[in-house]
Amino acid sequence: MSPESVVPWAALAADPATVESYRAKVYTDRGPDLCHYFLGAISSSGHGKLRAGSRKTGTSRVVTAHVLGYVIANGAAALPEGHVVRHTCDESSCQLPAHWVAGERLDNIRDYYARSHRAGHALGDVRGPDGRATAIRDAILGALATGADVEVAIAAAIAAGNPSGASQETLF
Ligand SMILES: [Zn+2]
Repeated sequence: MSPESVVPWAALAADPATVESYRAKVYTDRGPDLCHYFLGAISSSGHGKLRAGSRKTGTSRVVTAHVLGYVIANGAAALPEGHVVRHTCDESSCQLPAHWVAGERLDNIRDYYARSHRAGHALGDVRGPDGRATAIRDAILGALATGADVEVAIAAAIAAGNPSGASQETLF
């Protein structure tokens, strides 16, 4: 069993401090249907991570951000035992509820291999999912800190992981 199968999701999603801490780490100021990138810690698999719960209630632990977000949005009952939350957008750090679907772990693996070979796809980023998510996060934080255009910064951070696409553009 994965450690997350014993996470008290319902208690975490009902904890106002946890919800507030989660929301503070998500960049939502974008157009409809655009990915809401995570601005906190990124794991080696490119997923957002944050400390949730409280020591006082014994619920304190580091959880995967989009799984917490899924449970906040849909309730713990929407995540049956053995299910994982997949990204239909393939951006591992994305926190937009419309881009999530819960399913069996095996579906997730099958999907990943089917999609990862598409040219220019998020899963084909030369930096790997963690390098991509970290670059996008840092681009957003940098733009916010300097007053630069956040969407331009995101687009540049995404393009940097696809050298073939970038060199193709220079041909025209
Ligand atoms: Zn997304």
